[in-house]
Amino acid sequence: MDSQPVTTSTRLDSYVDRYAARTAGMTASEIRALFAVASRPEVVSLAGGMPNISGLPLDVVGSAIGDLIQHHGAEALQYGSGQGVPRLREQICDVMRLEGIEAHPDDVVVTVGSQQAVDLVTRVFCDPGDVVLAEAPSYVGALGVFKAFQCDVVHVEMDDDGLVPDALRQAIAAVQASGRRIKFLYTIPNFHNPAGVTLSGERRTEVLEICRAADVLVLEDNPYGLLGFDSEPMRALRADEPDGVIYLGSFSKTFSPGMRVGWALAPHAVREKLVLAQESATLCPPQFSQMAVSAYLTQHDWQGQIKELREMYRERRDAMLQALEDLLPAGCSWTIPHGGFFVWLTLPPGIDAKAMLPRAVTARVAYVPGTAFYADGFGSSHLRLSFCYPTPERIREGVRRFAGVLEAEMELRETFGATGPVAGLPAGPRSGYDAPSSDLS
Ligand code: PMP
Repeated sequence: MDSQPVTTSTRLDSYVDRYAARTAGMTASEIRALFAVASRPEVVSLAGGMPNISGLPLDVVGSAIGDLIQHHGAEALQYGSGQGVPRLREQICDVMRLEGIEAHPDDVVVTVGSQQAVDLVTRVFCDPGDVVLAEAPSYVGALGVFKAFQCDVVHVEMDDDGLVPDALRQAIAAVQASGRRIKFLYTIPNFHNPAGVTLSGERRTEVLEICRAADVLVLEDNPYGLLGFDSEPMRALRADEPDGVIYLGSFSKTFSPGMRVGWALAPHAVREKLVLAQESATLCPPQFSQMAVSAYLTQHDWQGQIKELREMYRERRDAMLQALEDLLPAGCSWTIPHGGFFVWLTLPPGIDAKAMLPRAVTARVAYVPGTAFYADGFGSSHLRLSFCYPTPERIREGVRRFAGVLEAEMELRETFGATGPVAGLPAGPRSGYDAPSSDLS
């Protein structure tokens, strides 16, 4: 009897048959392969949300870690508690106090970055088809989690002052009228990724009132809150609503993303479930990283360090805003971030950011097209520019290259009407999985 040869494609098909339905939502972004090309040194990447850790005192970190292993190695290299190291949870409460939060370390669950906290909260609350409200646009990594858990994301409009309360009211009413349950509102109130805007003080009160009245839980994701350029940190939503808000924090932007230490502060009952979810996902968050972060906080002037980081990022923000002002053609507009890493740019009518990206990468500049930040295909006339990583000079050069590409695109559009993607991308790796995850963060 003839047997058919097993080819790579038949093998792949047989795996596809066995995948869980939820993997349908786990797809590599179309732009991922492009970012593998964009990470080449000759490309100015205004795409990645990579914190600039060059300002960190590596000698201090090195000696803290050396001491940790020498004096507490048996503990640091061992499994630990599913909830996280108690001393670190106390220090996390000190960090949150800067934003008006009074919390008990018992209500903190340490996670593998705040990315895992988004995953655990979604795992605990969401069944397939449940509705999650999220700003329009929203953080690509959270949208990926919601998709993987088969949630239905309903976007809520923002403006320069953050989430628009009337739009929130309308979105809640529309979902409730359709008989569906909203599991939570996912919001990034400070220095939004990707929009760069911050929820104003008055709106914080209003958003909390709306959610309280409609019995909607708030998931407050706040990795950038201490990186404001002009003022003291804004008061966290959690500070005024301990029972209705799950707050997520991270040491990725204020210390090191490589440590992968973040946390969730949750109402007591939810905290129990999060710990159980954490135990089934990882047994425990990494003991070594937690103790290293704890040692850094104890031995270093971490608040002084954050001040230095803020100055560095402010200089880069200024360089980007100045370059946009000086170099971009008329018809573009952009947000003015008062902290964080990102500017959200709106292109002149008819220009498609995703279609233009291959041409931009050919011109050695990269950005993230706006569609990546929507669950529903919107955002084509927007894009995200990050100013966190390149030097001010590189930022200006990147914007100069970007402006050239955009002007050419506008001319093309004037001559031929709508433009689409072109062939002729610089050759890159076949698989996109070696693209740095920061480009999609
Ligand atoms: N939330 C937001 C809004 C982010 O921008 C990021 C990282 N870019 C994260 C969560 C995840 O960060 P981490 O897991 O490193 O704490």
